[in-house]
Amino acid sequence: MESNLQLVGAVDQGTSSTRFLVFNAKTAELLCYHQVEVEQLFPNEGWVEEDPMEILRTVYECIDATTSNLTQMKISTKCIKAIGITNQRETTVIWDKHTGKPLHNAIVWCDNRTQSTVEQLVAKTPNKSQDYLKKYCGLPISTYFSAVKIRWLLDNVPEVREAVNDGTALFGTVDTWLIWNMTGGASNGGQHVTDITNASRTMLCNIRSQEWDEELLKFFEIPMSVLPEIKSSAEHYGYMTESSLQGVSLCGCLGDQQAALVGQTCFSPGDAKNTYGTGCFLLQNTGKNPVMSRHGLLTTVAYKLGKDEPTYYALEGSIAVTGGLVRWLRDNLGIIKESSDIEDLARTVPGSGDVVFVPAFSGLYAPYWRSDARGTVCGITQWTTKAHIAYAALEAVCFQTREIIEAMQQDACDLEDDKAKMKRLQVDGGMTANHLLMQLQADILGCTVLRPSMPETTALGAAMAAGKACGIWSLDPGDLTSVTFERFEPTTFDERRFQKWKLAVQKSMGWHYGDNLESH
Ligand code: ADP
Repeated sequence: MESNLQLVGAVDQGTSSTRFLVFNAKTAELLCYHQVEVEQLFPNEGWVEEDPMEILRTVYECIDATTSNLTQMKISTKCIKAIGITNQRETTVIWDKHTGKPLHNAIVWCDNRTQSTVEQLVAKTPNKSQDYLKKYCGLPISTYFSAVKIRWLLDNVPEVREAVNDGTALFGTVDTWLIWNMTGGASNGGQHVTDITNASRTMLCNIRSQEWDEELLKFFEIPMSVLPEIKSSAEHYGYMTESSLQGVSLCGCLGDQQAALVGQTCFSPGDAKNTYGTGCFLLQNTGKNPVMSRHGLLTTVAYKLGKDEPTYYALEGSIAVTGGLVRWLRDNLGIIKESSDIEDLARTVPGSGDVVFVPAFSGLYAPYWRSDARGTVCGITQWTTKAHIAYAALEAVCFQTREIIEAMQQDACDLEDDKAKMKRLQVDGGMTANHLLMQLQADILGCTVLRPSMPETTALGAAMAAGKACGIWSLDPGDLTSVTFERFEPTTFDERRFQKWKLAVQKSMGWHYGDNLESH
């Protein structure tokens, strides 16, 4: 049994699945992993929930299955020196600290039940602006962020309101829920903590002081007592009290998109990565100062890899629907059997035949932030086939990404910051298995797209943070000897297609009226 290796484990709790992966801390090589789907619940139109107990169960299931694989590989589980966590961000859990039981299902980040809550909150701001709180937290008031979801729970779920009033409720994003349970929970002194990257997505954390902000708490009427303690992304949070890894230190934590930025070693200002999953999230490292976007991007904490290490910031362009559109073509239209079939189908035609598909299923996130937009397909003719729709779906992913990059470049121009100009785009996530998509992306952006050989960069980032905290992982990109990159170089692109995209986006706006507008 091999027992001299230095390994780090990573829990990757995503929107559609949970994984546990084990990496070699010297080479970043992925040794083994296990993955389990997580059930999503859609109790009403636009509502997306998950069961927090199921999320926790899938984490333990993945840990135990992976460690048993490791034993079969004749590697001792004692080689695992640390565990990092990375998670779907903004998803909101509230539970009872005495029983450990959730007071409601987790409200998932892309759930848009809070549309009328958003309207009420915007109406409360002195200038009636969605951007009023940006100067505190870097984020616009949107259905996306946790504070808005907590507000909805307080207004609509009596059990939550009572537990918050009684001081028995705890709030957490998924990282907090997992760490609290994995370090002992209700019976064994679970640690109620979060890391600064997850905290920066709640709308309650001050982007500069990196602490919970009194003004924001007052605005949302949320008491400080329900909130976890904010820690850095790489320090000891507590020891595992259960599972085959009992006694191992939990010491790395990053929201999934920030973890991918770290896993792609985007450590210099200007470095950027785009992760193509259910949605797309493009983050660009902006260095040690938060940059306030004037073009619809979010300001967020990128990482703080140690208690005494500096905080790095990022500009982020979040796109709600990309892989979700492929899933919709599969599940709702049935034009493909597997998500990966979209590539073969789209390749049967030379282009989308002038069709443009704006997948604004739950409104548009960056750079528009329009919750009234809805999905729109323009340019359909008698001649249009499912292959054209499939092609247009892939183009939609690339056009949305281009809009984000253009917004980033406009912000960089405003700042006259040459370093922030993007030279290449590093990519990861489930959709990057699609070659056609990657080539279209290079063509539509007119820049090189770099895809790593090891697709699990999100988990790698969490493992790197945990390995750094326990002193066995250097963060020198040159040490990631097992990771190589495939390049997609731009060829030709007809710019008029992008103009058509912009036209179609305009048409998607204003379709859905919120509660306040119903009488108009
Ligand atoms: P998440 O972390 O958001 O759960 P993943 O990174 O696991 O997402 O990616 C899964 C998403 O990517 C799904 O929405 C799926 O439809 C899409 N997807 C997976 N493979 C392909 C492919 N070959 N082409 C296009 N889309 C794909």
